[in-house]
Amino acid sequence: MRHYSLTGYGVSLGNNQKLMKDLIDRIIALESISKELEPTEKERDRLNQEVQAYANTFIKALKTKPAYTKGEVNSDALKIDSHQHSLTTLLEHYSSEVADQGIKPASGGHLGYIPGGGIYTAALGDFLAAFTNEYAGMYYGSPGAVTIENELLDWMKGVFGFPKNAIGNLTSGGSIANLIALTAARDAYGVKNEKITKSVIYMSPQVHHCIHKAIRIIGMEDVQIRLLTLDALSKIDSEKLKETIAHDLENGLRPFMIIASAGTTDTGAVDPLEEIGAIAKQHHLWYHIDGAYGGFFILDEEKKELFKGIEMADSLVVDPHKSLFIPYGLGAVLIKDKEAVFQSHHYTANYMQDAVTNMQINPADVSPELTKHFRGLRLWLPLKLHGVQPFVACLKEKLLLTTYFRSQLEMIGFELGPTPDLSVSYFWYPVLEGDENAFNEKLMELIHQDGRIFLSSTKIDGKFVIRMAILSFRTKITTIDSAIVMIKTCLSAAKSHFGI
Ligand SMILES: *Cc1c(COP(=O)(O)O)cnc(C)c1O
Repeated sequence: MRHYSLTGYGVSLGNNQKLMKDLIDRIIALESISKELEPTEKERDRLNQEVQAYANTFIKALKTKPAYTKGEVNSDALKIDSHQHSLTTLLEHYSSEVADQGIKPASGGHLGYIPGGGIYTAALGDFLAAFTNEYAGMYYGSPGAVTIENELLDWMKGVFGFPKNAIGNLTSGGSIANLIALTAARDAYGVKNEKITKSVIYMSPQVHHCIHKAIRIIGMEDVQIRLLTLDALSKIDSEKLKETIAHDLENGLRPFMIIASAGTTDTGAVDPLEEIGAIAKQHHLWYHIDGAYGGFFILDEEKKELFKGIEMADSLVVDPHKSLFIPYGLGAVLIKDKEAVFQSHHYTANYMQDAVTNMQINPADVSPELTKHFRGLRLWLPLKLHGVQPFVACLKEKLLLTTYFRSQLEMIGFELGPTPDLSVSYFWYPVLEGDENAFNEKLMELIHQDGRIFLSSTKIDGKFVIRMAILSFRTKITTIDSAIVMIKTCLSAAKSHFGI
């Protein structure tokens, strides 16, 4: 008989009957406590019903509750202690301390930053993924889950004109997706050692800050970064880009990557993707496009032209948790050069020897993650249930609502930023005498105090402007009408504050 040495026992049991009985008794005693973690079917029904009821109350209230509440969280209610609490109490705490505080990404009234989504059927996908707990890191572990994720990536390759043999990954969001893409670029061009300080990356000053973070994380902070000149519509000026590259070449530098945006965060500008693609090709540069906000607007036939050239990218990032209305936690990256990605992410270890299979690309070979959430299901389920068409209609609706909002604002005397490429735009109230920035800052403050509709602000060439980003699937024409009512009220208050 084998002798087991047991932690907590510290002895080998051997044939000692008494110790064996003692051991079994202890295991059984613990089981009666740990079985709490497996609620019975009846308990599950009760728990599900409570959450279901909360979901219904929550969604119903979204129309009337403010999109923004600046509040204080009672963290005592959220502290971990050793007691058990009823789900009823916990849902009350969730509602008051979490769901009712701050910006509400689930609300159609969220028109700030880049709004979130949170379609219900995606939450059901998460629920399924969680209780089946499929291992989505390796094909060997869950061939079905990995196939679903790869099917989604194949669908995206089709949407963006990427070749079938490109690879990709479903990430937690756009930041990690950009990190994976930039790492591949680094490895494809061997940017290391003495090459680092001579290598040049070209990008718009409007690129999302996660690009700068990624550059630091992957040890490229000492590359030369050229923040390019923009045209009047905040897009990369491709003539100036050519000149900058020529200048760097003359100076013995090593141009290596161009980063363009398919929808900047600040103004939603889509860079001239095709022109930049041609320049990248001519100079053999890695071409990266960040479409985290805007990428999926390509699904609108009327916007296709704007995205021409996106298929020329070596790597592309999109964010289904933005422009496909999925709850937070889903980005995607597509990359043409598989070897470059494998250089940093493909790994074999002895303890993984059973998992080697060439059937499909393993998510773990394309990302720093090994064990991962089966996040593909939250997109796959809604796409299969609803079909793609409602998503496309929703994107088109957002574009038209942007036009509608802008013309309503114009009618009440606001100045508008240029006609936007997509659904991000900005406006400000002109003040003939006095400090226009101060007036608009005050107006923004009043809008935040009101909170019915949430808008954010930015600075365009030193000018304080209020920004609108229409991307929530719950933003409807009635939302825009409410926004106008709210803005009118706040405008009057700002005017009386300044005595105008
Ligand atoms: C939101 C955004 C990102 C960052 O994506 P996360 O999903 O927030 O990590 C990157 N680029 C652009 C253009 C974005 O709008």
